Amino acid sequence: MKIIAIGRNYVEHAKELNNQVPEKPVFFIKPETALLQKNKAFYHPEFSNDIHYEAEIFVKINKLGKYIDEQFAHKYYDQIGIGIDFTARDLQSEQKAKGLPWEVAKAFDHSAPISPLVDLKQFSNIQDIHFTLDINGKRVQNGHTADMLFSVDKIIAYVSQFITLKIGDLIFTGTPSGVGKVNIGDRLTASIEGQNLLDFEVK
Ligand code: ZN
Repeated sequence: MKIIAIGRNYVEHAKELNNQVPEKPVFFIKPETALLQKNKAFYHPEFSNDIHYEAEIFVKINKLGKYIDEQFAHKYYDQIGIGIDFTARDLQSEQKAKGLPWEVAKAFDHSAPISPLVDLKQFSNIQDIHFTLDINGKRVQNGHTADMLFSVDKIIAYVSQFITLKIGDLIFTGTPSGVGKVNIGDRLTASIEGQNLLDFEVK
């Protein structure tokens, strides 16, 4: 499986990092080794002094697809979750300054902690979901999927022109504003519609 992650999909987040609002979805890939599950602790890597949290809603692909039409994209997922797109912001800034790819800052081991999956049936509309991230009990991100620049279905239609989506692939849909640094000892708790689904420590 692979993780496809969308950058700059919330205007306020693009602005907080002084990035332009994109005309097309910006995406990158995290490998399977990025996954961290079952609320296991995240061990802060030594190669970065500025690991940022980015809380994101993700969808799980349930059907093989290529060139998926936007109007049929909703048939390709029926479960979602909340995850963290950990980003070595210091390394990413170096790469961005040189116009180089971001993988060194985005694709490292355990850079994608994920919650268990929840049935999309619980919600009326994928583009009407509220999600949050608390660090040590303090709310740091407060997102709503209505604020995405590119909807989940638009993302699937766009990405599947280039890459075949396979069963089990995850699509991280971008983070709202409020990103920041994590420190050893922090506890991250993320929720979807008030349901705490992800809860782990940084060690
Ligand atoms: Zn992200």
